[in-house]
Amino acid sequence: MSDATPHAPSEPTLTELADRVWVVRHPWWDVNVTAVEGERGLLLVDTHTSDASFGEVLDVVRRATRAPLVAVVNTHAHLDHVLGNTAARAAGQDVVVTAHEAADYAGHLPRSVAAYAGERAEEARAAVVSPPDHTFSSVSAVDLGDRVVELVHPGRGHTDGDLVARVEDADVLVAGDLVEESGHPVWGADSWPMEWPLSLDLALELVGPATVVVPGHGTPVDRDFVFEQRSAIGVVAETIRDLATRGVPVSEALAAGHWPYPAEHLADAVRRGYEHLPRSQKRLPLI
Ligand SMILES: [Zn+2]
Repeated sequence: MSDATPHAPSEPTLTELADRVWVVRHPWWDVNVTAVEGERGLLLVDTHTSDASFGEVLDVVRRATRAPLVAVVNTHAHLDHVLGNTAARAAGQDVVVTAHEAADYAGHLPRSVAAYAGERAEEARAAVVSPPDHTFSSVSAVDLGDRVVELVHPGRGHTDGDLVARVEDADVLVAGDLVEESGHPVWGADSWPMEWPLSLDLALELVGPATVVVPGHGTPVDRDFVFEQRSAIGVVAETIRDLATRGVPVSEALAAGHWPYPAEHLADAVRRGYEHLPRSQKRLPLI
């Protein structure tokens, strides 16, 4: 999820990124859904937040292709990326939904749906959580006939179960919320702030000089953008490590750190980072 959408479109937009690869950018959350067409049919990466918003996305995809929907990939189990799964199954033909094995459809997701009180809350809360049919540990692939979409879990970061989807023949990488363009990266209650930089390093190994990277939210970016965001996410992790090593208590860490993002958005990052640091890297506060 992103909580800053300064230049979100006012209605869903369709952008062709490469041969038979499109991204739909939807104003609700300013979230992206990527469509990849192959001989066997259509794959959608993420499904938006409700039956209705999935339908709005699909309507826009249908301006470009009538290929039958056969596969869905969820980049991670946050409500703005997966609550359209049920509608996607109904719209397609034996749709196979794939996600990472640690993506938390049973815990964090239903809790966050129940607590959600923002835009279009009624329809989001009415959506039925539809977990994946297929999960994987490190790498997987969706065969679309004449092209293959590779799925890689680069490690934990924005959530436990992030994946990136790579369309190698088109030089496109769909990064989910490991990368954000229209807002800053979001560290929530299920984030892994100390591991996120290393996960992005692995994802960057799949990114070349001409690769189009689709962020979870906002406009597509390039390798330089991802490098810069990785370094800022690394500064957050190193600042947490430094504060903990110096014995700054977690309750004072937000105010004591010099952060690359507004401190008020980093409360979960700091709390989680302190939890995840090994005991040997934390000092008791000096009294
Ligand atoms: Zn997210």
